[in-house]
Amino acid sequence: MSMSFTLHGLGVSGGIAIGQAHLMSHATLEVSHLVIAPRMVDKEIARFETALARVRSEFEAMKEGMEHSPAELGAFIDLHSMILADPELSETPKQLIRERRCNAEWALVQQMEVLVAQFEQIEDQYLRERSYDVRQVVERVVKELVGQPGRAALKAAKGVREENLIVVAHDLAPADVIAFKDHNFASFVTDVGGATSHTAILARSLAIPAVLGLHNARQLIRDKETIIVDGLRGVLIVNPDPRVLEEYQLRKSQIELERSKLKRLKTAKSCTLDEIDVALHANIELPGDIPAALDGGAEGVGLFRTEFLFLGRGDMPSEDEQFEAYRKVVKGMEGRPVTIRTFDLGADKDLHPDDVLGDRVQTNPALGLRAIRLSLAEPRMFQTQLRAILRASKYGKIKLLIPMLSHASEIDQTLAAVEQAKSSLRGEKIAFDEAIEVGGMIEIPAAALAIGLFLRRLDFLSIGTNDLIQYTLAIDRSDEQVSHLYDPLHPAVLMLLAHTITSAEKAGIPVSVCGELAGDPSLTRLLLGMGLRQFSMHPAQILEVKQRVMQSDVAELAPAVRRLLRLEEPAKIREHLDRLNGVERPN
Ligand code: PEP
Ligand code: MG
Repeated sequence: MSMSFTLHGLGVSGGIAIGQAHLMSHATLEVSHLVIAPRMVDKEIARFETALARVRSEFEAMKEGMEHSPAELGAFIDLHSMILADPELSETPKQLIRERRCNAEWALVQQMEVLVAQFEQIEDQYLRERSYDVRQVVERVVKELVGQPGRAALKAAKGVREENLIVVAHDLAPADVIAFKDHNFASFVTDVGGATSHTAILARSLAIPAVLGLHNARQLIRDKETIIVDGLRGVLIVNPDPRVLEEYQLRKSQIELERSKLKRLKTAKSCTLDEIDVALHANIELPGDIPAALDGGAEGVGLFRTEFLFLGRGDMPSEDEQFEAYRKVVKGMEGRPVTIRTFDLGADKDLHPDDVLGDRVQTNPALGLRAIRLSLAEPRMFQTQLRAILRASKYGKIKLLIPMLSHASEIDQTLAAVEQAKSSLRGEKIAFDEAIEVGGMIEIPAAALAIGLFLRRLDFLSIGTNDLIQYTLAIDRSDEQVSHLYDPLHPAVLMLLAHTITSAEKAGIPVSVCGELAGDPSLTRLLLGMGLRQFSMHPAQILEVKQRVMQSDVAELAPAVRRLLRLEEPAKIREHLDRLNGVERPN
């Protein structure tokens, strides 16, 4: 049996999955086949050598970073370094470049095929399986040669059921993960990615266990190996022994049982023990998420992240296409309110590298032309979307939500753009909801601090804690290297949250939280105690949060939370929160 080992990363979506590894291919076999000019040969060889050198130092760095890992893991890297250094891979492709004038990628892949065919002839199973290692090493070099890895190839092998597969990738862009909605994978794990990256958010929306930030998983795991993913603890066990496997199978069925018990709460009223109503809404990315939202008992859609409709497809959707998607959602929600957020493109969510953002190079994409900034810079794109949303507002209750606002002038320009879209529709005698409410995301510290500007101009607010935390603490939410600093309980974050909620309440402006905090049952009481009465989260989290709401007494929580908000020391805050969560009353 193959060696068993454990990897630790960031558990970003709970539950347990047990299945076979499905390595995400970097499409090595689809490299371009070019015949290069004789004068380019030396350059091409140099390009090949640079890529080899880069991968070599990457392996060395990996080895150094593995000080505290089991020795067996280091052995993998040693093996891959050896393969990389073997003249069959490091020298023969150069001959192919020189003699047949192939481009470097093609030369390398041809040589890989020769080697893999040789390995596959070997009787000994251990040696035969080294062909996987050759492929992995070549993929690494090809990736270096072509720059970014190509879009993920998702197809499962013939006869393999997707629900038994665990996708293992170095990195997955939000555009890759959104494609999972058409698949049925048991889980996915990646080497990179932070806890509130959009990749992580999508894992929660798929309601499948996921672990990110595993560093070297893609390199260490082989296709078809058995893996256990513990999405809560962020643990991955590769080739588990039968005892461990049995233990996890048991845990898995316990979790499934608890989930099915929660389903009983679907039609229960969401109110606290002291009878305060709390609205629980769903966050969705696609019209296809509506059944899950209704299944979870959502009272509405609190956040429709429209950019996901079109991510990765390379062009902008037409007004009609958008209108159909928005209408589908509002009709699907059968009269419940739907909050549609205008495109939050940019940062880690690109439509296509050479589309809307064009060749504008951004040094700090999260601080760059993202969300409303991009929409205001692309008035045609913005008008198309606003018209589509307004047209759909005839078919149900739609609210319009604007992401990433920070300046009063942006709000004013946005409201003017909405007015322009309305007036063009009026001119064309197209019906829409004249009284459509316009709200803003509070996700930039400046917005939370100068909240009066927002309260005076908008109909409602929605706090985007994912970005609010990212920008308050100056940590990139998609970078696993700083994810240990991502702390929703940082006193500065709590201050901004509490200030926004209290100010909105005083002004009589509805406020909700739609960041990942809203779906974390261990924070439900804290938010209730701050005065929050509207939460929006992934459908799969609603019932657990509802259970918390139903076990809470706001009259008791509010003074305790006020005391918590006066604290600064992290340990004290945590202790206070634990006490808050321990105050449970029987139903
Ligand atoms: C947020 O920032 O909290 C949010 C809800 O928006 P997104 O995660 O799409 O940036
Ligand atoms: Mg955001």
